[in-house]
Amino acid sequence: MDSKTDHPSPKMPASPERTQTVAVSALERIEALGLKPIPEFYELWFRYFEGDPEIVRAVDGYGGVFDENACHKLYKRFLGATARDEMMRKVSDQVQQAIGELAGMLTSVKSATSEYGETLDDVNEKIQDAHSIEDLTSVVSIILQDTKKMVEKNQELESQLDNSSAQVTELKKNLDNVRKEAFTDGLTGVSNRKAFDQQVVALTEEAGVNQTPLTLMMIDIDFFKKFNDAYGHQIGDQVLRLVARTLVENVKGRDFVARYGGEEFSVMLPETPLVGGVKVAEMLRRSVENKEVVNKTTEENLGRITLSIGVSEYREGEGVSELIERADAALYNAKRTGRNRVCPEEGADVSAPEPGQNAEAPKPHVEQV
Ligand code: GH3
Ligand code: MG
Ligand code: MG
Repeated sequence: MDSKTDHPSPKMPASPERTQTVAVSALERIEALGLKPIPEFYELWFRYFEGDPEIVRAVDGYGGVFDENACHKLYKRFLGATARDEMMRKVSDQVQQAIGELAGMLTSVKSATSEYGETLDDVNEKIQDAHSIEDLTSVVSIILQDTKKMVEKNQELESQLDNSSAQVTELKKNLDNVRKEAFTDGLTGVSNRKAFDQQVVALTEEAGVNQTPLTLMMIDIDFFKKFNDAYGHQIGDQVLRLVARTLVENVKGRDFVARYGGEEFSVMLPETPLVGGVKVAEMLRRSVENKEVVNKTTEENLGRITLSIGVSEYREGEGVSELIERADAALYNAKRTGRNRVCPEEGADVSAPEPGQNAEAPKPHVEQV
């Protein structure tokens, strides 16, 4: 834009008539002040009569004489190359800052595509080369267009992320289920042998470290073969579920119930010495014995289920197999001495509960299987 005479104000689009009036006023003022009719002075006064607020303020507030020197200074300050450069610099700084923030944001969502990055580089170059408000406006509109595209891409990405995070959650849930299943006995729903093998190691280690007692019970259903033979395997399975449920319902906190195999269960009681473990075992034995099993289809009374239980207490420094063997030996003793009873490990300073104490037991609890 070389001609300063028809320099339009960016704020006030002028009609040709008004432009003419303004131009005449400017020329008249130049003449009245005895200034040289150079384009710079013309532009200054044109802008003044046009109503450029900054120039009007500066001119009207100027206390001195408008000689050539003063007019040059005013021109330089508001319209000269430095002034233009200054304004351009300010605006491009702002645009660059905005781009910087945007770029930061985009990097932080890790979605700045190379295409958009190129646009930003491009735009940066264009800002450096921009000489007018129009140039900057076009630069800004490029940014806006590309940002809009980017926002769309980001939304896509976000929904993809949502999707994959939902998939990951689902996956984790499935994994948790699989893991849970791997440690759960399919028939009874209590922990399985694999879980027991892990837990017995964990609990004995814990007992050693914390110097706390740990009791282990080995539990075996009495004459279960006969029961199966008499009523069938399905009823037998139901009874296994009933026994497992009874064990779980009668222990608490960190006590651990597992199906050890077949018709054998194991219960571990952390922070419990042998004497306490024997009491709990007796309570479990009674709970099962107190159930009267009834076939829910035929309503036939199938009698009572009884348990033999051997109890051992962990000795510091021993292996888990020794702990299990002592409970097994105690269980064998319970079987040998009549079944339906609890036996503590051999040599223990704890007496076995008297068998047959259930004589004064409350009314048996009918259980349908
Ligand atoms: P004891 O009092 O000496 O323990 O006699 P028992 O009959 O219980 O012992 P034995 O070891 O001779 O028989 C165990 C029986 O447990 C064999 C089998 O019929 C039964 N059993 C083991 N696992 C299952 C199972 O998953 N379902 C059913 N229904 N029965 C099982
Ligand atoms: Mg057995
Ligand atoms: Mg048995």
